[in-house]
Amino acid sequence: MDRWKTIIEPHRIKSVEPIRMTTVEERDGYLRESGYNLFNLHAADVLIDLLTDSGTGAMSAEQWAGIQRGDESYAGSPSWYRFLESVRELFPFKHVMPTHQGRAAERILFSVVGGPGRVVPSNTHFDTTRANVEFTGAQALDLVIEAGRHPSEIHPFKGNMDTDALEAAIRRHGAANVPLVMVTVTNNSGGGQPVSLANLRAVREVCDRHAIPLFLDACRFAENAWFIKQREDGYADASIGDIVREMAALADGMTMSAKKDGIANIGGWLAMNDDVWAEQARNLEILTEGFPTYGGLAGRDLEAIAQGLREVVEEDYLRYRIRSTAYLGEALVEVGIPCVQPIGGHAVYVDAGALLPQIPPLQYPGQSLAVALYREGGIRGCEIGSVMFGQHADGLETPAAMELVRLAIPRRVYTQSHVDYVIEVARWVAERAGDLRGYRIVEQPPQLRHFTARFEPIGEA
Ligand SMILES: *Cc1c(COP(=O)(O)O)cnc(C)c1O
Repeated sequence: MDRWKTIIEPHRIKSVEPIRMTTVEERDGYLRESGYNLFNLHAADVLIDLLTDSGTGAMSAEQWAGIQRGDESYAGSPSWYRFLESVRELFPFKHVMPTHQGRAAERILFSVVGGPGRVVPSNTHFDTTRANVEFTGAQALDLVIEAGRHPSEIHPFKGNMDTDALEAAIRRHGAANVPLVMVTVTNNSGGGQPVSLANLRAVREVCDRHAIPLFLDACRFAENAWFIKQREDGYADASIGDIVREMAALADGMTMSAKKDGIANIGGWLAMNDDVWAEQARNLEILTEGFPTYGGLAGRDLEAIAQGLREVVEEDYLRYRIRSTAYLGEALVEVGIPCVQPIGGHAVYVDAGALLPQIPPLQYPGQSLAVALYREGGIRGCEIGSVMFGQHADGLETPAAMELVRLAIPRRVYTQSHVDYVIEVARWVAERAGDLRGYRIVEQPPQLRHFTARFEPIGEA
């Protein structure tokens, strides 16, 4: 298969969804109405939507068949048992609790194990994970390896955790105050970068030394396993399923958003081996999600996830998935657009700070680039820079570490010609990058401003 350069989508299309062409003039109007915030756009006015890969995937014919098969019994539905079997096939944890999304699993888990004085280390906490840890009064630590902090540095497993830093953190805070260690696969906030099995084993050793459980934030477990198969010694011939089971065997539990590698539009779960924690978690689940055999999901959702988990570990799918993300990233780099390296699994992160040096961080180069991609080509990406991270509770504003625009790729949704179009538009914008101007915020809420803030372009640069 690797002999041919053209990326073949390993599926054909039998149900289509029109996307609407708009003109630059129309998009100028939509931008003004939305206060130059792409979250405020009507999705119908977006041509290629790369805002997120979460819940935006296309379901297969077998998943739609599962939707029809969905059994809506309140307790003990056959759909629940199919879901459970499919989850356990990859993640044989003793207790599995479905939830409506990944963050619900996080909220339940950290309600049980968090609290003031507790410290939860991770390679990098995803933002909802961090928020759920901190909401309980606990502290969230990010301990990714040094290479993971430098956008242009090449490393095969840039999502790895710094195990010396982990050991030091446990000693500093005391093992009794560290209820669990979390490893995010792939490391979303760090650019979709994978974690090696060797690193997971090393983290496990540190955890064992201090009798601390290890949990996976497993949202992109299949993409992570694909990278292990490609890059880690000794795994070239292993099946994706076996690699995933080896990852799972190193952990004591997991949180999951099925909106990612479940290839479902909604859902998630919390799983663990510990009976005492599981009982507390189940009680919380009943309180806010639902009875433990549906956990806030319809039977049909459980079916879609059960089937999605079988499809996501197929090698033809993963080869296409990872190659098509790399195809976009490599093409952008080739036309001179700096991107976080190496290209991650689910998204390409454009370094807007490097592309637009004339725009100071607090005039939001990432916002400027994201708006330009929409204005010129109807493409919606997501600013991950000072708009998202620059605002602090004390009212101060400081620049983020990086000014990025994330182009996240929905699963099985766009074809190579869509991606070629994105490359063409990005190139046109990059060739005129010197003309782009910064933005000022004219309205913002006290927190999480990136979702609702309104902007105004600053006069010609
Ligand atoms: C999306 C995501 C979550 C949260 O899942 P939701 O389903 O959006 O609530 C947690 N961790 C990571 C790494 C994610 O990508």
